[in-house]
Amino acid sequence: MKKVGFFKSIHFKFVLIYILLILIAMQIIGVYFVRKLEEQLLSNFSSSLNERVDLLAYNLEQEMILDRDENTPTLEEEVRAILFDFFSDDITEVSVIDSKSRVIGTSDVNNQSIIGRRTTDILVKQALVVGSRSDKVLIDPQLGHRMKVLMVPIKQDSQVLGVIHLEASMENVYDQMKQINNIFVSGTGIALVITALLGIFLAQTITRPMSDMRKQALEMAKGNFSRKVKVYGYDEIGQLALTFNNLTKKLQEAQATTEGERRKLTSVLAHMTDGVIATDRKGRIILVNDPACDMLNVSRETVLAESILTVLGIQEDYTLEKIINEIESLVLDFSTNQKPYILRVNFSVIQKETGLINGLIAVLYDITEQEKIESERREFVANVSHELRTPLTTMRSYLEALADGAWQDEEIAPKFLEVTQTETERMIRLVNDLLSLSKLDSTDYRLTKEWIHFPKFFNRIIDRFELTKNQNVTFIRNIEDDRLLIEMDEDKITQVLDNIISNALKYSPEGGVIQFNLVKKDGMIEVSVSDQGVGIPKDNIHHIFERFYRVDKARSRKLGGTGLGLAIAKEMILSHGGNIWAKSEEGMGTTIYFTLPMENELEDDWE
Ligand code: ADP
Repeated sequence: MKKVGFFKSIHFKFVLIYILLILIAMQIIGVYFVRKLEEQLLSNFSSSLNERVDLLAYNLEQEMILDRDENTPTLEEEVRAILFDFFSDDITEVSVIDSKSRVIGTSDVNNQSIIGRRTTDILVKQALVVGSRSDKVLIDPQLGHRMKVLMVPIKQDSQVLGVIHLEASMENVYDQMKQINNIFVSGTGIALVITALLGIFLAQTITRPMSDMRKQALEMAKGNFSRKVKVYGYDEIGQLALTFNNLTKKLQEAQATTEGERRKLTSVLAHMTDGVIATDRKGRIILVNDPACDMLNVSRETVLAESILTVLGIQEDYTLEKIINEIESLVLDFSTNQKPYILRVNFSVIQKETGLINGLIAVLYDITEQEKIESERREFVANVSHELRTPLTTMRSYLEALADGAWQDEEIAPKFLEVTQTETERMIRLVNDLLSLSKLDSTDYRLTKEWIHFPKFFNRIIDRFELTKNQNVTFIRNIEDDRLLIEMDEDKITQVLDNIISNALKYSPEGGVIQFNLVKKDGMIEVSVSDQGVGIPKDNIHHIFERFYRVDKARSRKLGGTGLGLAIAKEMILSHGGNIWAKSEEGMGTTIYFTLPMENELEDDWE
């Protein structure tokens, strides 16, 4: 955070306001006080001067009305004596003028020559004529001093005997004022310094807890709630600090709760097998869990803040409004030629209490397996219906022909009956195969395992086929006559071998060879049956273990096949913990292999 600039700081503002306040107060007080003081000093000066002049006027009057003879001193001498007595520092000059405008005395020692001369001073003449006192303030043209000029008439009754002309310097009064002003200014200066110091101190008492709170707020923003604001006192700021500490505690608790909830949510989202994507109200991704990233094969960094429509690849077919208002669920097919991959996305809208849409949650499910099972189920039902309908239709037409009179034909009737019998048997085989498969599919399916001497068991089955075969086919056995004991369900493996060997016989040409092999390999036995028949094209070889799959449908049907034999064999071998596969070359022959696990230790025991 930026530091507060000095001129914007509370410190500066406080000190400035304090100084300004004191300055204004001092100015107001100063102006008023100085004015009053000046008035007072000037009036004191005037009244003291007037009193003294009045006394002087009285003395001079007494002297002027006195009758004089040769023995008494002259008026001028008396006046001079009185003036010298009267003279003091604050008086610049005092002179006495008689009624005929003649100067009869002056206090100015250097100006004694004017005694006896007539004065031309207008003010004196006015005073002599009018007989009243005048009072003026003039500026001394040489020194520039302010001078008080008094004209006081010397009267006996109403007769004017003369005038006292007095000049007194007022500079003393103004000097005094200046001194007082200086004292006032320095007093103001001291007051300002003290105020500034007090201002700083006061500002500190406010800013210290505030900067403490600021520091704490910054720490809180970083997630550190351990700090506490120091409470300096129990005033308003102290209360604020206490409230702030309380707020910190509450915030810490709230943050802990939120953090806990967030962790729970993150953990739930991370451990969910379904993908979850949350967006803001503009459809931009704000949260995505790992399964969602895996499902869409994207990284979290690249999809965050991206539009959900783009990430799901549906931006061309849907708008966000449509998804929010109309679509609850979508199936997205990301299948390629190599791999099927289908996702279901369920959308739910996050709404505020006011009804305002706040975002979208999309939950992704991988439904590839589900879809595969579903399509297999549909295909299976279609296959079963088809497989059952074919013999039934054949039978119906033959039975109709018989009912229409063919039963009377001794030649045709047995043939027709034979066909219906063959078709019935095929249907029975088909239903039996379906029952076997359904048993294998059921969850409570159990194998009845026994320890079987496998070479003996294998030979016995081959013997059975060798005895019953009505084809010119040679059987070659490469069976290790070892005491190989295998724990297995004898009926089931018999069924597996029956299917494989009957297929080999079915597809073998006249004079062909069928080889039976039994070898031990990596803790397993590997059984294989090879024929020299038509073989299976390369593209079809992986499908022959699928239900109802037949390379050549017509041929298989003609040979009485149901298309379920190898599918049943595969289920049985897998349930024994073995594996089954085929190798074939078109026109050269086919080998069907299967493995079964063997238990070596038991084998040793038997030995
Ligand atoms: P089916 O009842 O038709 O024989 P299977 O499940 O036993 O059904 O076999 C599936 C398909 O695999 C057959 O229809 C056939 O096309 C092919 N097949 C199986 N065994 C052989 C073999 N030994 N030679 C050639 N094709 C075979």
